[in-house]
Amino acid sequence: MVGDLVTFEVLEDGTCCITEVLPRHSRLSRHSLAKRREQVLAANVDQVAAVFSLNRPEPDVRLLDRLLAVAELHELPAVIVMNKTDLVDGDSVPRDFMAYAEIGYPVLPTCARTGAGLTELRELLNGRITVFTGPSGVGKSSILNAMMPDLDLRVGEVAERTGKGKHTTSAGLLIPLPGGGYLVDTPGIQYFELTGVDPADLAHAFREFRPLVERCRFADCIHRAEPGCAVMEAVAGGEVAEHRHVSYLTLLEAAEDAREYGG
Ligand code: GDP
Ligand code: ZN
Repeated sequence: MVGDLVTFEVLEDGTCCITEVLPRHSRLSRHSLAKRREQVLAANVDQVAAVFSLNRPEPDVRLLDRLLAVAELHELPAVIVMNKTDLVDGDSVPRDFMAYAEIGYPVLPTCARTGAGLTELRELLNGRITVFTGPSGVGKSSILNAMMPDLDLRVGEVAERTGKGKHTTSAGLLIPLPGGGYLVDTPGIQYFELTGVDPADLAHAFREFRPLVERCRFADCIHRAEPGCAVMEAVAGGEVAEHRHVSYLTLLEAAEDAREYGG
């Protein structure tokens, strides 16, 4: 699997033969209830960088919350990259996004056009394996090219090599970074469904819910309409952002449907 560390032997004819796959310290996978198995997409991933733009297109918080939930369920740290800072006045990061910094996700503003924030981003990626993802048009390629001009060709090569298969294969590819470290190009990670997740576990994927769930009146509370729900009380009191709860309910419904229909 992409990201695996292996030992190998060089054979007499110059080809290599993998002799051992070393233990993985993490993995990014897709669960399928229908197939009742886990499909590993990348091994030894260190972090997820969720890339969005402040404008054109406007940030899709529903997608961001889904990506963050995927990262949490894999116990991977996530950072939020907010690109195109030149398209907003001053440093007016939308209020919805301030909420992420408050719950502990680093939010890194960048501008591929002026180069702002790219030094910080490079430092963040150096020496690590990062899933670099986000909707199309937010400036992922522009950021990478501005950050490392030498990468240009490599990205092109990768796209060419995967070609049409890019949409049919679930295996990711590693893009080596000049300063060490890799980006994982995992087709479709942004369409990740959380269908294999037990609805009862989903609240743990929303990190600011975690300290609250123990205070719900019912041990099996799913934080939707139960009396004495500490999460809903926190939403009503403004301590938890309402849009995060809406995202949670959306994912909860999908997880429940998957249970019902074995999807
Ligand atoms: P990707 O689909 O995420 O790889 O996005 P691209 O890198 O292809 O960029 C999409 C469009 O956004 C292109 O027209 C870029 O020139 C533009 N773009 C990228 N970064 C910035 C930025 O920081 N500011 C502005 N104003 N436009 C940008
Ligand atoms: Zn509750």
